[in-house]
Amino acid sequence: REQTDPVLQLENINVSFDGFQALTNLSMRIGVGELRCVIGPNGAGKTTLMDVITGKTRPQSGQAVYDQSVDLLRLNSVEVARKGIGRKFQKPTVFEALSVFENLEIAQKTHKGVWATLRARLNSEQRDRIDSVLALLHLSQERHRAAGALSHGQKQFLEIGMLLVQEPHLLLLDEPAAGMTDAETEYTAELFRGLAGQHSLMVVEHDMGFVETIADSVTVLHHGQVLAEGSLAEVQANEQVIDVYLGR
Ligand code: ADP
Repeated sequence: REQTDPVLQLENINVSFDGFQALTNLSMRIGVGELRCVIGPNGAGKTTLMDVITGKTRPQSGQAVYDQSVDLLRLNSVEVARKGIGRKFQKPTVFEALSVFENLEIAQKTHKGVWATLRARLNSEQRDRIDSVLALLHLSQERHRAAGALSHGQKQFLEIGMLLVQEPHLLLLDEPAAGMTDAETEYTAELFRGLAGQHSLMVVEHDMGFVETIADSVTVLHHGQVLAEGSLAEVQANEQVIDVYLGR
């Protein structure tokens, strides 16, 4: 894959919680349109890394630059989202009592700000955007159903849809395939491959089969540091990575 401009550049990020060092001199770069998987054992720092990018945790030192000019460390979570960085947590958090369509409508409007939220009607462009996201996620038939009545996998897709209606540039996804059926996992992989290129993605994932199908590149975290980076085959051949995963 050709090198593209970076959508995200992290330099020497340090995060400590009451003296516990969660991230140590962490540097990484994600290219525009790249699909990067982040792997590593529990406690490696994967969640903390996403918290730093989204303004939830402030590092003690380091730099985080988005789109080559935006200093992420000066923004709060809402500002980060408005700049085009969408984050999906592991558990789906849809509005269960509202319909599938209404969930997408709210996600789209709140992203634009309070006036758009209060305005009663969607314009046709917004409606088309929601329709195309529904089709992409195989949820068109479910548009009037309560989100609470969807399967776990469908809720995960709906939440991805709630990000996509906001037209993000960079998507951060925490174990998106967790709890999905095999068929849903397969479709998620296909979906992500389709999104890459147009969007940049950072996916935290434990399922190596899934990583193998989707990733352009892989970053391995361990004890808050980047242990290895490259293609999945490259990191899997790395001695230190083998030691960590086999516990030698
Ligand atoms: P991962 O997502 O890879 O499992 P985390 O980023 O959640 O790892 O955690 C990295 C380390 O930082 C863990 O040892 C965790 O206990 C610690 N940690 C995370 N958040 C906090 C916090 N708010 N206060 C204290 N320690 C924390």
